[in-house]
Amino acid sequence: MEGGRKVLYNGNKMNKSEKFQSAVFWAVTLSLLLAAALTGMGIQGGQERALEQEIDTSVSDGKTVYLTFDDGPSYLTEQFLEVLDAYGVKATFFVTYQSDYADMYREIIDRGHAIGVHSASHVYSEIYASYENWLQDFTKMYDYIFEQTGVYPLVYRFPGGSYGNPCKNHPQVVEQAIEYLESMGIQYFDWNVSAEDGGYVSINDAYRNIIDHIQPRHLPVILMHDGVEKENTLAALPDVLKQLQEWGYTFDTLSPQVLPIHQGTSWDY
Ligand SMILES: [Zn+2]
Repeated sequence: MEGGRKVLYNGNKMNKSEKFQSAVFWAVTLSLLLAAALTGMGIQGGQERALEQEIDTSVSDGKTVYLTFDDGPSYLTEQFLEVLDAYGVKATFFVTYQSDYADMYREIIDRGHAIGVHSASHVYSEIYASYENWLQDFTKMYDYIFEQTGVYPLVYRFPGGSYGNPCKNHPQVVEQAIEYLESMGIQYFDWNVSAEDGGYVSINDAYRNIIDHIQPRHLPVILMHDGVEKENTLAALPDVLKQLQEWGYTFDTLSPQVLPIHQGTSWDY
């Protein structure tokens, strides 16, 4: 089954870090073994198929961070953009359908960030009730992003995460969704660091939840939210960026060329 897989490495960059090279090798190998096991069990997951895509891991030298903001845009999004600009940092916004903030989609793109599909409604019970429902929700958001920005999104985030309970409870819907995303050339991303700001979080905890969990990750994909009532995330952001820049991290946007961080397989990557 390895025959069809193409995983590209950048030799120059990889030589800089034997440890990193080894981590990549094991991450891919373990994912393949897991995928093989799942297939053998008749539970063919999207993780296996995702690895068939060409992935340029040279972009992840252990010093690149991928910030992601979910559930916006909201009345706070503009302020998030101001902070990112102040630090010269690019991020990825997984957006929802918010016609009150329709100008924000274009603003996100104009300032050099990436935009990804999250969900039109963000109502789990509707989205995951059937594949048709999922597709309707996805398409509504996908089309709206294009309408507002003229850009076709290339990345997607499952509401609740691909490994969260809503997805786990609807494996068939998720499997079909992943097939559809692949047919569209869209990669889905979870995260491996989180501000834990889905509910209430203090400014200090939002900061610590990120900063204390960055360094073990070779390719940190950080989950934050720029939706309503995320003032504390916004307030924590400058110190987060300051610390990451002090540590020498650079920031990039997610694309199908980045190693996909999927919970359950590459979560620890
Ligand atoms: Zn969300």
